[in-house]
Amino acid sequence: MPLFLPHFNLQKFNTLAVPAFAAYFVSVKNTEELREALLFARTENLSLLLLGGGSNIVLQDDFPGLVVHIKHQGKEIVHEDDDHVWLQVAAGENWHQLVEYTLANALYGLENLSLIPGSVGAAPIQNIGAYGVEIKELLTELTALDIRSGLSVTFTNQSCQFGYRDSIFKGALKDRYVITAVTFKLNKRPQVRVEYPALRAALAHLTQTEITPELVSAAVIAIRTNKLPDPADTPNVGSFFKNPVISKIQHEELKLRYPGIVAYDAGEGQIKLAAGWLIDRAGWKGKEAAGAAVHKDQALVLTNPHKTSGQAVLELARLIKQSVFDQFGLWLEIEPRVYP
Ligand SMILES: Cc1cc2nc3c(=O)[nH]c(=O)nc-3n(C[C@H](O)[C@H](O)[C@H](O)COP(=O)(O)OP(=O)(O)OC[C@H]3O[C@@H](n4cnc5c(N)ncnc54)[C@H](O)[C@@H]3O)c2cc1C
Repeated sequence: MPLFLPHFNLQKFNTLAVPAFAAYFVSVKNTEELREALLFARTENLSLLLLGGGSNIVLQDDFPGLVVHIKHQGKEIVHEDDDHVWLQVAAGENWHQLVEYTLANALYGLENLSLIPGSVGAAPIQNIGAYGVEIKELLTELTALDIRSGLSVTFTNQSCQFGYRDSIFKGALKDRYVITAVTFKLNKRPQVRVEYPALRAALAHLTQTEITPELVSAAVIAIRTNKLPDPADTPNVGSFFKNPVISKIQHEELKLRYPGIVAYDAGEGQIKLAAGWLIDRAGWKGKEAAGAAVHKDQALVLTNPHKTSGQAVLELARLIKQSVFDQFGLWLEIEPRVYP
């Protein structure tokens, strides 16, 4: 029987370091314990918060329900052919440690996603992506427990309906499933991906054949360490806003007014704007307001330097959204999930 801890301080369990309390907290390391936790929540009529590394949530207040910390561990090769290995990984495994494990075992594909904080089970929720790769390109299927029925089901890649920082688990099936394991199809032969400009620039001194997945991982780690604040020193949740995706016509109009606007081709006739550039241009980089702050080098990252409430960070986000709208006519969308 897992231990249900009442009135639990979540400050060390969210990377914004918000000192919010959960009515109950429980750590589960297998499906049996998870089922017991779900039964407890149902019996006590408690709402649920499924927690991995807490690196993509904002606690705007105490959570009046049960926080279930997903700690399932384990990795297993479930299939193999001449070129690929299908690796099934339990949801509670740490993401970056998984990337390191794959490289140490000569399994390739995850290297561009080095150093993203959090757990394996949360990675499909927003289809994590960085430096030109998203996990939808490597995930073949995942296993999840239906919170209502308690049954374990398999989702194929297609049924996850992945999009930019999006999946069915943020939409139609929000709060319906607990992801318990994820299967990745990894390459036995290196196929490096270095199209992303910052990554290409970091490896420009090497020829294509000299670039190994290990070097890609090292370059990604170096760029990230240089660019992003470490939540252990400066509480944050990474990018606070999604990059807005707009039409080519809208982009052309904006470019007339702002020739330096930073944008990428998002395919299907759409353009992705760098939200960080918009926020910077609106004058927010390095500013502090409402008790929270905008990072001095990376305007897309909001920080909670005084480890105060999630409300402070959300108030700063609201001010930023309003001024970006006033200047560019675009509403930014918050990336992390806000609770309760
Ligand atoms: C410094 C920094 C850099 C970052 N860089 C990136 C980046 O480059 N790219 C990127 O995509 N993201 C990035 N992020 C965001 C974050 O790391 C990812 O979204 C990560 O996948 C969150 O994992 P987590 O375990 O911390 O999730 P949590 O914050 O614990 O949870 C996030 C959401 O997923 C749900 N969830 C968690 N586990 C499960 C589960 N097993 N089953 C069902 N639902 C679950 C939670 O209920 C919650 O709604 C960054 C964050 C930080 C702090």
